[in-house]
Amino acid sequence: MPSSFTGHVLDVVERHGETRSYTFLRESSGGLVEDTLTYAGLDLRARELGALLSESPGAGSRALLLYPAGLGFLEAFLGCLYSGVVAVPIPLPTNRASLDRVAGVIADCSAEIVLTDSTCHDDVVERLAQSPPPGGPVPVVATDRLGAGRAGAWRMPALGPDSIAFLQYTSGSTSAPKGVMVTHANLLANEQSLLHITGLTDQGGMAGWLPHFHDMGLIGMLLNPLYAGADCAYLSPLGFMKHPFRWLEAITRLRATCTVAPDFAYGLTANRVTDEELERLDLSSLRSAINGAEPVRARTLRAFTRRFAPVGFRQEAFQPSYGLAEATLLVAGPSLEEEPVIKEFAPAGLEAGEARETAPGTGLALVACGRPVDLDVRIVDPQTHVELADTIVGEIWVRGGSVAAGYWNAPEKTARTFQATLVGENGAWLRTGDLGFYEDGRLFIAGRVDDMIIVNGRNFHPQDLEDAAQGVHPAFTAQPAAAFAVEAGSRTHIILVQEIRRGMARDTTIEELAERLRATLSSSFGLSRVGVCLVAGGVPRTTSGKVQRRRARALFLESRYRVFATALDDTVEAL
Ligand code: ATP
Ligand code: MG
Repeated sequence: MPSSFTGHVLDVVERHGETRSYTFLRESSGGLVEDTLTYAGLDLRARELGALLSESPGAGSRALLLYPAGLGFLEAFLGCLYSGVVAVPIPLPTNRASLDRVAGVIADCSAEIVLTDSTCHDDVVERLAQSPPPGGPVPVVATDRLGAGRAGAWRMPALGPDSIAFLQYTSGSTSAPKGVMVTHANLLANEQSLLHITGLTDQGGMAGWLPHFHDMGLIGMLLNPLYAGADCAYLSPLGFMKHPFRWLEAITRLRATCTVAPDFAYGLTANRVTDEELERLDLSSLRSAINGAEPVRARTLRAFTRRFAPVGFRQEAFQPSYGLAEATLLVAGPSLEEEPVIKEFAPAGLEAGEARETAPGTGLALVACGRPVDLDVRIVDPQTHVELADTIVGEIWVRGGSVAAGYWNAPEKTARTFQATLVGENGAWLRTGDLGFYEDGRLFIAGRVDDMIIVNGRNFHPQDLEDAAQGVHPAFTAQPAAAFAVEAGSRTHIILVQEIRRGMARDTTIEELAERLRATLSSSFGLSRVGVCLVAGGVPRTTSGKVQRRRARALFLESRYRVFATALDDTVEAL
């Protein structure tokens, strides 16, 4: 067994170099165009770039990767792995906020070089000049212009299991993004675990559209096929958002056995694909449709299956999974061919921190995220650090080979998050900040510790309120929302900021809609102090599409939304 991910890649290239490939499905006026790169071609480019990067900036230094979706990113990422340079993939800056983020990350990881391609080079240089990193300007290099003929000069760098392969910045849902140090051993361990849910072999294929700078896109969609020796075809996230049909078209074309996406994407696609498009699809090859990174909704699984069963989609292909960057990616997921497990729990029990199963149709439906994969996963009281019994809700703690080495340049945060001690056990544990429980050996995710709202000793998870709003009127369906608590008149109020599609609300007035939503939330959750704010847009989200509730709350308190209508108590109104 190779001790580095790079060593493993060399083995795969040796076996499958000419027969397996990456295909980027590029949008053009006539439809999708295929850019294909065999594993041997990728290996050649990785050697060429690796030879250059070994000279400068040299093994161990950090390189920021700012690429549009496409094969250029993969060449550069592999070039880093082939040189021991630590890759730091983040989104291309498109506006002020994302530019500040780039400058912040350059400073945080002391990047010595920015790698990009020739289509973005001048724009990146210009933008970085507007927001110069505190340590002075950093060279910006277009890798597609570099390296030709240099492969012969490449030498395998000295890499061990503990060498850092790359920094994965977290999504920034709850705080500023943190750079997780993923080692070669972490990457090998998690890619092996992922096979359990992707089912990829050298006979299979992955198709998707996830961003390469997000853990699920990079480790799940792009690197798992390379690890397994399988094919991979993908389009850009923007291409997917413009035309979700393209995702399923890619699965159909490749006869893909696996795909991976967050819950919202499955819901959006079930809604958007037309009957005429449906006829051009065949999803019967899919054995694994991984749903993760966000709460998995029973409603979505049912809607997607209903829509696509006629073209061969099988509900048991769904793989509801849980993971986070701090554990490289995957923590828990079901085995292949297992039907998704959906159970209903009494809301009053969950509010008190205990999962009590109820009869179908009477409780809150939650989807199990399978069982831990090659990791020790416990449910722990976040205050006392004592392990909790099954069916009691607590913080999810993890240890094992996929748990990353810590946050870059942040020893205190690292100690708090990665070096927790569990009462009665030796060793360090990762605190995930997520809440969950076990039922019949399966892991259910209940929410995030930081987002939880406590009212009169009852625990509310914002996603449950946001979810309940979706069904109240079509103007809310598939629109972003954020629930959070505010203090007013010395009482806690729960506020839901909901984006709406006005065009869908012609049957009623907008004020009436706000009141109706407030009444539904109040009766469904037994809440006396709940407020609603219907907005045109602007519920803040991360680059991977996750709602940022803390920021959403700050914007509410600063009156920064374009408001259509509100249903709020006077004390909240006065804030
Ligand atoms: P930040 O740590 O910067 O606030 P983030 O936690 O969203 O951002 P990621 O590591 O990309 O960054 O996402 C992992 C988080 O996503 C998990 O901690 C969890 O909160 C959420 N998540 C992942 N899978 C699931 C799932 N199946 N159900 C519910 N939540 C999930
Ligand atoms: Mg996180």
